[in-house]
Amino acid sequence: MNLANNILRVDIAIIGGGIAGLWMLSRLRKRGYSALLIESEALGTGQTISSQGIIHGGVKYSLQGRVTESAKLISEMPAIWRRCLSGEGEIDLRGSLLVEHQYLLATRSPRSWLAGFLASTLMRDKVEKLAVAGAKEYPPALRQAAFRGSVYRLDEPIVDVASVLGAFAERHREAIVLCEGPAVPSGDGAITLRYPKQPMLAIRPSCTIFAAGGGNSAVPWAPLQQRPLHMVLVRGLGLPGPMYGHFVGTRDVPRLTITTHCDANGHLLWYLGGELAETGVKRDRQEQIRAARRELTTLLPWVDWAHTQFATFTVKRAEARQDNGSRPVGPSVIRDGRTLVVWPTKLALAPLLAEQVEQMLRMLDLRPKPADLRILEDWPRPAVATYPWDKEDVQWS
Ligand SMILES: Cc1cc2nc3c(=O)[nH]c(=O)nc-3n(C[C@H](O)[C@H](O)[C@H](O)COP(=O)(O)OP(=O)(O)OC[C@H]3O[C@@H](n4cnc5c(N)ncnc54)[C@H](O)[C@@H]3O)c2cc1C
Repeated sequence: MNLANNILRVDIAIIGGGIAGLWMLSRLRKRGYSALLIESEALGTGQTISSQGIIHGGVKYSLQGRVTESAKLISEMPAIWRRCLSGEGEIDLRGSLLVEHQYLLATRSPRSWLAGFLASTLMRDKVEKLAVAGAKEYPPALRQAAFRGSVYRLDEPIVDVASVLGAFAERHREAIVLCEGPAVPSGDGAITLRYPKQPMLAIRPSCTIFAAGGGNSAVPWAPLQQRPLHMVLVRGLGLPGPMYGHFVGTRDVPRLTITTHCDANGHLLWYLGGELAETGVKRDRQEQIRAARRELTTLLPWVDWAHTQFATFTVKRAEARQDNGSRPVGPSVIRDGRTLVVWPTKLALAPLLAEQVEQMLRMLDLRPKPADLRILEDWPRPAVATYPWDKEDVQWS
């Protein structure tokens, strides 16, 4: 790598610092590549900071009663993340675990074959049925005589995504920079790094990787699809303790997915996704709050929801475009020469995406070269994005 006339030559420039960009940065630096990640806002802005943090193992993608391609691809992810969460994996994520398991909750037997399928050999090491109704392993909200359904414990941890982003940022601080406005390569492949009061710097990478989520739309040859969600937040007196799980409905998407988080003031809140959020894109804020109240009252009728407050926001999932507009089966890597455009498709799949990118770089015969990033010593670094519930403009009703 050369430093001359404010030019920085690196093996790889990564555009975008969500989970995809950060995991790749970590993996590729470990392999000896000189890599630089360029972020125009805060790390994880957009999807990663809005995610529910579930490290899926595939059960959600098997709700039609067979193990799908998606389920197979994602099945190794909990083990990979767990190694990191215990400090033994490729990145030290100790301190980022929210809970060890989430649950699958069936209020009645919505589909008679489901219980049999979940008990099958295919699912045996992923799912454990909790036999004693109301036992203390049950989520607090379900420790009720009135709850007549079944509870399955899934081998799927949930992470605190801000803490995950922070762990990468701390470990790779010298290789992560903030730029003013979206980073876009010029015709000759150079990326001009700009920031107020900093001398301009031309980054000349041998390979550029767009990992910018919705920002990948800047690359016309890599078609993108954006699938919106209308997510709901619930807080206040009456919230019946922490809850992490999918309520199974009649479709192959969970009817309601609930995770629990702490806001900046240390108050518990529930974060609602699943079918409610998918169908909610057709509802305005007030209608979506009414729909969420209805859903919670139906699923957990013994809880007094009178003193809870609700808020909603919309966010788009960014993925490689599919002919039928459905979710891609796994991560996507699209290449033109030495420019790659990537989407992990799920937070949980970031390690698999890093693996696929590493293989592609080997195929391109890109040989790792050492880096000296001292020219960036005084360059500003991006912060970690703010959780949706801690944003100043969140409107509680
Ligand atoms: C509401 C919601 C809940 C979800 N829950 C889960 C879940 O529980 N489990 C799971 O596995 N997956 C989940 N997902 C999916 C998961 O969040 C995404 O697949 C993943 O976070 C995408 O990460 P990313 O790094 O590709 O993109 P992003 O997180 O969107 O990051 C892109 C980054 O690029 C930056 N950027 C954009 N353009 C530029 C540019 N030109 N120059 C520089 N920087 C740029 C942005 O500021 C941002 O920081 C969820 C998604 C949503 C929306």
